[in-house]
Amino acid sequence: MAVVIAHRGASGYLPEHTLAAKRLAFEMGADYLEQDIVASRDGELLVLHDVHLDRISNVAEKYPERCREDGRYYARDFDLDEIRQLSAWERMRADGTAVYPDRYPVRSGDFGIPTLAEELALVRELNEAHGRDVGVYPEIKRPAWHKEEGVDIAPLLLAELRTAGYEGKDDPVFVQCFDAGEVRRLRLELDCPFRLVQLIGNNSWLESATDYDALRTPEGIAEVAAVADGIGPHLSHLVDVENVDGIPTVTDLATLARDNELVLHPYTFRADDVPPGFATFDDLVQFFVQEVGVDGLFTDFPDRVVSLLKV
Ligand code: CA
Repeated sequence: MAVVIAHRGASGYLPEHTLAAKRLAFEMGADYLEQDIVASRDGELLVLHDVHLDRISNVAEKYPERCREDGRYYARDFDLDEIRQLSAWERMRADGTAVYPDRYPVRSGDFGIPTLAEELALVRELNEAHGRDVGVYPEIKRPAWHKEEGVDIAPLLLAELRTAGYEGKDDPVFVQCFDAGEVRRLRLELDCPFRLVQLIGNNSWLESATDYDALRTPEGIAEVAAVADGIGPHLSHLVDVENVDGIPTVTDLATLARDNELVLHPYTFRADDVPPGFATFDDLVQFFVQEVGVDGLFTDFPDRVVSLLKV
């Protein structure tokens, strides 16, 4: 059965990447909890969706002088002690309005930004208390940018995972990254013992130097399979909704993944952002499970996907 990966926690209900959102996702029955990893100035690994703090916290109010020339506040410019003073909020747009207006209200709540160590401890404690084996799914965010900023996240992440007791491919861990060079390096140079997932984006996002158009070809997927255990494409890479009467059809990427023995974990399944071609969230999930044949789904609504998979 497909595994349910709680995207930034149960982020459909509580501010993304807060420990409360992770605890809720655990209670909802998720199989894996995702951690996006960003570094602080003093080299601590934070669980934070991107390198900026301003769209998900009160950093601009708390430290008004600390933005860069682009007007943004970077986690890399703050020590952990300073980041601990911040309140974490539901994601906002640049103008301060909610990205997802039906979710937890922006600029409210009593939440903080967790470290990876804190989150790994929480997962261990919850697993012990409930007799479960819920996994972790860390993503190295913008490794090339972090190296320019003087910090190399990948070895720090591998060390923290080992400290937390994870040892290898039999453990419930997937390490994910958009940067194909970094995925290669993790396997070939850093001897990453954990399963690796190559994330696939669109070139227009400028997420990394990787050419995702080339990566989605048979040659590209074969190269990925030489070092990785799975792929994490955007769900639009797996369906074509434009060619036949608006009825979704499955693209070749799913077959390519299967032929190369790669697990297929697309993102992101959101009940409040159902893509064109699908009438409801349930239709969307069922199509991907039954027709595309995914091995797992990144979702903001783990409760909804867990209950659909049980049927
Ligand atoms: Ca992520």
